Amino acid sequence: MGLSAPEKWTVEADVVVVGFGVAGVAAAVTAHDLGAKVVILEKAPEGEEGGNTRVAGQGYLNTSSVEKAIAYLTALCGPYTVPEPMVKVWAEEMCQNNTWLESLGGDPQEHQHPPVGIEFPDLPGSDCVHKFHDGPTYGYSNTWKLFERLVKQRPITILYETPAHELIQHDVTKEILGVRAWRRNKPITVKARRAVVLTCGGFENNQEMIRNYLPGIPYCYTSGTPYNEGDGIVMAMSVGADLWHMNNYAGPSMALKVPEVRTTFSMQALHFSKEFPGGMIVVGPDARRFTDEKFKTRHGKIPINGRWLPLSTPCPMFMIFDHTLFSAAPLYDKHPSHGWTQIIERYDWSEDNSAELAKGWIKTAESLSDLAGVSGLDAATLVETVTRWNRYCDARHDTEFGRTLMMEPIFDAPFYAVELSPSMLNTQGGPRRNEKGQIVRPNGTPIPRLYSAGELGSIYSYLYQGTGNIGECLAFGRVSGRNAAAERPWK
Ligand SMILES: Cc1cc2nc3c(=O)[nH]c(=O)nc-3n(C[C@H](O)[C@H](O)[C@H](O)COP(=O)(O)OP(=O)(O)OC[C@H]3O[C@@H](n4cnc5c(N)ncnc54)[C@H](O)[C@@H]3O)c2cc1C
Repeated sequence: MGLSAPEKWTVEADVVVVGFGVAGVAAAVTAHDLGAKVVILEKAPEGEEGGNTRVAGQGYLNTSSVEKAIAYLTALCGPYTVPEPMVKVWAEEMCQNNTWLESLGGDPQEHQHPPVGIEFPDLPGSDCVHKFHDGPTYGYSNTWKLFERLVKQRPITILYETPAHELIQHDVTKEILGVRAWRRNKPITVKARRAVVLTCGGFENNQEMIRNYLPGIPYCYTSGTPYNEGDGIVMAMSVGADLWHMNNYAGPSMALKVPEVRTTFSMQALHFSKEFPGGMIVVGPDARRFTDEKFKTRHGKIPINGRWLPLSTPCPMFMIFDHTLFSAAPLYDKHPSHGWTQIIERYDWSEDNSAELAKGWIKTAESLSDLAGVSGLDAATLVETVTRWNRYCDARHDTEFGRTLMMEPIFDAPFYAVELSPSMLNTQGGPRRNEKGQIVRPNGTPIPRLYSAGELGSIYSYLYQGTGNIGECLAFGRVSGRNAAAERPWK
């Protein structure tokens, strides 16, 4: 049950958009350009808005053919099918992203660096994939800067530091009439004469939802915004929404998370395309390896028995490495091209890793047995695991996991350990929506005047094509913005 309508509203609009990422931008701009008065509620303080969109790689998908896009998305969903009308609208709209952005003054540039980035080239229709960003330079929030400008050029009110908490619902008709939010620690009510569009991202920072919904992980941390806490899921459920794709997410990868910093540090040596001198493996709590540490996962998924499944991440995990690797380069790449830690937190990691060693983020010991002791691992097993790894390096053959990159033994003392946690870009699940962008109940009927877009209940049910999230945010942001603006104002 949502809240009942107040006698007096604090703020009034035709369309209320909850969340100022790209899905919110596409919905707000579309509704505004169709004549609606739009208010955006944003949880983050000014300067930290933009959600995952702002710190993303900045690529968005613009598919080249509707038919091929239908075939590719259908194949990406695999056994977890999505209704045909949804697939069709997704495919039709994904081909329009560039046209729409160009019509608003954007400068779509296709990614040039090879490979083009078709994530599953063997699937039918995969050559429909074309990835774009805005302007000459890829990354550095550049595409976000265009999205932000589109809103700020228009008389759209943005209320920062105003998290939406509850939907206000008509007692009898069950129409959504507005939103209750908190502004500077006081409740406010925001009237939506036509509709509310929820675009407030996923549940990357809600550990209880992560435990409940994501497969096989007791906790997980994000490299994106810390403000996405599943609020849209709670609000939609409270008014009777169904949920979908809750078990699908863009992850896991393995990264360092420390209490002092809200988001994760990716370890350069684990990046599949980067080679460093020195030995490195990752072990689980049993001090044994569990994967090819340098495998290029498909947004966290690896092939197992002919299916793509999330990488197994037995927690806690430890990256074990030697002094040659420690002294080769900073363990973390602070270059601000993408990622919340790099772009917003801007933690200044020391060039020689000494500051992080002093903080205890990196542990060290003269022998592997002692390193096991300070890491809480069984010493004999860790020594055995490293000895076996070193044999694989000598033979240039990893018989357990088939690793081929950075086949360097761990032998140069002292030795080091960094505790790793599962990390993700974003969740894909949330309230189920239909081809009009309406949030629906478990029986498929729409909740009147309630729409959504973006990663809050995205269309991706199984496999994910990189740049598909922002592509979908643009596509369904427009769909929901259009339909929200077309609602007749309630009396
Ligand atoms: C490091 C990184 C790289 C990525 N690279 C790419 C890429 O290149 N291409 C791609 O397609 N995808 C990429 N992704 C995924 C993509 O960025 C997101 O899925 C997409 O941007 C989501 O957009 P959105 O508008 O749905 O949500 P977001 O952009 O996350 O915006 C949600 C907004 O809602 C706000 N909010 C949350 N709760 C409330 C509330 N209660 N009330 C009001 N506001 C609220 C948040 O503060 C936030 O501003 C990447 C993600 C990360 C983390």
